[in-house]
Amino acid sequence: MKLLVTGGAGYIGSHVVELLIERGHEVVVFDNLCAGHRAAVHPKATFVLGDLLNCPALAALFAEHTFDGIMHFASHILVGESMQTPFKYLRDNIDAVTNLLEQATQHEVKRFILSSTANLYDNPQHVPITEDEAVIPGSVYGETKHVAERMLYWMDRIYGLKYVCLRYFNACGAHPNGHIGEDHHPESHLIPITLQVALGKREKLVIYGDDYDTPDGTCIRDYIHVLDLADAHIRAMEALANGAGSRVYNLGSGTGYSVLEVLETAREVTGHPIPAEVGARRPGDLPKLIADSTRIKSELGWQPKFDNIRVMIETAWNWHRNHPNGFNDR
Ligand code: UDP
Repeated sequence: MKLLVTGGAGYIGSHVVELLIERGHEVVVFDNLCAGHRAAVHPKATFVLGDLLNCPALAALFAEHTFDGIMHFASHILVGESMQTPFKYLRDNIDAVTNLLEQATQHEVKRFILSSTANLYDNPQHVPITEDEAVIPGSVYGETKHVAERMLYWMDRIYGLKYVCLRYFNACGAHPNGHIGEDHHPESHLIPITLQVALGKREKLVIYGDDYDTPDGTCIRDYIHVLDLADAHIRAMEALANGAGSRVYNLGSGTGYSVLEVLETAREVTGHPIPAEVGARRPGDLPKLIADSTRIKSELGWQPKFDNIRVMIETAWNWHRNHPNGFNDR
């Protein structure tokens, strides 16, 4: 298939592109490089520097290429920032997907995969969380993903565009080939921050609260390896190509690890003491988020291959150790 990947220079997008190319697909990456890295894009992908808010640039992209499907990653992704600058998120993320869907429908693209989020489950009644849980976005960022999901629903009804929304839990790890990995500025995620302490780039890890109602008092999250996420995207696209209908799937490994368990594992993997101290709770954090991914397992045959936290952290460490300055080292 010939696929458009927006945000293909970003963390998750670049891993999906890598796997798509390994599996023989043709890929066009469209990315404005505001957060992504040119060096993260596989050399066999066609790279187009452009912004989804620039309608003429988008029209030119669709005039030049005929796509069998679209995978949409490009968006602002910081939960905390979205609460401080809500209009940036509302305007950019929603305009971007609107412009993209307008072009997609005008050019009769029939398959779309949306990078969505577990931030849609702000008040889960049952953990592990299934897709039947009520959608209550936990931030303006989550709301923009919810709007995108609803837009896709209407695109299917009106134009017959088939879509899959993948609601990720905590993406982590890096491609074992060592060429690509996580490089966010600023970094806010637990595993890269912990590994930056091991590298001496930060003094210590601040644990955001140890008085939660969990066995060790720290928050529990469902970490999923970025290549397992990537595999799910490709399965979803292939299912649509084989005639499957529109779906929403939760995507996690199904196992929860606390902040302290992640820290302890990172100490073992790196051989570094990784100093840490307990700080205040981070506003908005829920004590425990674990995915029930039964639906995607049974419908698409998806199964996480990197299914323990040690392997996930090992692949991340392989990337960070060899690229302490991220893509600037490439
Ligand atoms: N966390 C932490 N210190 C940090 C960063 C994160 O204690 O410097 C905790 C955070 O409170 C959460 C977990 O680690 O419980 C995962 O946070 P992350 O930001 O990686 O992902 P989120 O679950 O917020 O999407």
